[in-house]
Amino acid sequence: MIALTHTRGQTWAVFGLARSGLATAQALVAGGAEVRLWDDNEASRAAAEAAGFRATPLDEAALAGCAGLALAPGVPLTHPMPHQVVANAHRAGVPVLGDIELLLRELKPAIYGVTGTNGKSTTTALLAHVLSGAGRRIALGGNIGMPVLALPRLGMGEGIYVLEMSSFQIDLTPGWQARIAVLLNITPDHLDRHGSLENYAAIKARIFAGQGAGDTAVIGVDDEHCRAIHAALVAQNSGRHIVPVSIDRILEDGVSAVGGRLYDNGREVFALDFPALPGAHNGQNIACVYAAARAAGLDAGAIRAGIASFPGLKHRLQRVGSIDGIACINDSKATNADSTAKALASFETIYWIAGGKAKEGGIASLKPFFPRIRHASLIGDAASAFATTLGDAVSHTLCGTLDKALDDALAAAKRDRLKDAVVLLSPACASYDQFKSFEHRGDEFIRLVAGRGGQAEQGAAA
Ligand code: ADP
Repeated sequence: MIALTHTRGQTWAVFGLARSGLATAQALVAGGAEVRLWDDNEASRAAAEAAGFRATPLDEAALAGCAGLALAPGVPLTHPMPHQVVANAHRAGVPVLGDIELLLRELKPAIYGVTGTNGKSTTTALLAHVLSGAGRRIALGGNIGMPVLALPRLGMGEGIYVLEMSSFQIDLTPGWQARIAVLLNITPDHLDRHGSLENYAAIKARIFAGQGAGDTAVIGVDDEHCRAIHAALVAQNSGRHIVPVSIDRILEDGVSAVGGRLYDNGREVFALDFPALPGAHNGQNIACVYAAARAAGLDAGAIRAGIASFPGLKHRLQRVGSIDGIACINDSKATNADSTAKALASFETIYWIAGGKAKEGGIASLKPFFPRIRHASLIGDAASAFATTLGDAVSHTLCGTLDKALDDALAAAKRDRLKDAVVLLSPACASYDQFKSFEHRGDEFIRLVAGRGGQAEQGAAA
């Protein structure tokens, strides 16, 4: 834990008491601050009280005199409207910030930060894996894994914090400054919480805030918002090193992942043959990690070795085992059609398990991928709607549950005996009709595959 010694003698408010909020309260108290904390959720308040805190409603009077309000990233700061506690803080003249801001104020540490609409966790975990494989001391956290204030204390020169940054976390970190910052991509997402795409893009662009000579900006340039941010960075001319990244074309002055190969300034570096990271979308993640790791001083050989030994992230195109030569892939994190599109684009011969709690729009957008789907085994609430969309184009079975769907998919794959066939759980749906979470759904799939004799192919990072 990182005791926040710079807050000694001050009073702080903490709102939102899930993992990061509780860690913040503990880090404040360990540093010698007094803490007033609250959560709207009774169970979260009970957890905080079990950890030795006394919950106090944070009205304007309770906030008056506080040095700051540490807000959990899940609490609305601006959109659709500020949470009542934010409004109270504004009225009391108390600054609102997050745990990463407190980390920065405490340690002024070396930070590598990653953001983007998609691929943040994969890219951050991969970058951390490559750096630590090359002997660098790093701590991985932020929007992935541990809350930052629960990480070890790494002073200047002692190591690097590799942080996944959601836009909510960027929004709560006014002093953000990263030695190496990565922006993968920007597509419409979470607009309910950010108002407009322009505002969302402006927040994402702040991943590059405060950078100057000696710092590096790595930026995907395949979408129009990122291209505009790239142009603005170039125009700013702040002395930072700027590395554009593309998976659409080979850049003469940047890093590209095109046609299964990685290019650095137009020169081929290595082939993208990493089974744990399939698909063009992972090409973008790998290319950004390559650019960041080069900026950190690693050579291409060390980076390639690090990527090759990355086990992949759980529930994201995770190869969980193979049955009679048929690879079973757990992509339970794919809770919408866009994510499932990435999965379907990653394989040629697919026995697809899909369904769950339906999302608006269904799977009509996946029609271009239907020729790759040999058979679909459908589960959950969305099954009949998906069956209607698949129609005569794709053979399918209404299976109801995941275990029946796995048997159905395996039977179809064994019958066809096609080369490189995969059974792919990529539901394009939320899990809540049959499971507690996408993690629960994925864990259940892993258990079912193991129960049918699935031989583990490789592990996966948490
Ligand atoms: P995030 O942390 O941003 O949610 P993850 O690394 O957890 O991203 O990946 C989640 C899903 O997003 C993956 O299962 C895949 O469908 C999709 N994805 C991953 N990387 C990319 C990318 N670079 N571009 C587009 N989609 C991606």
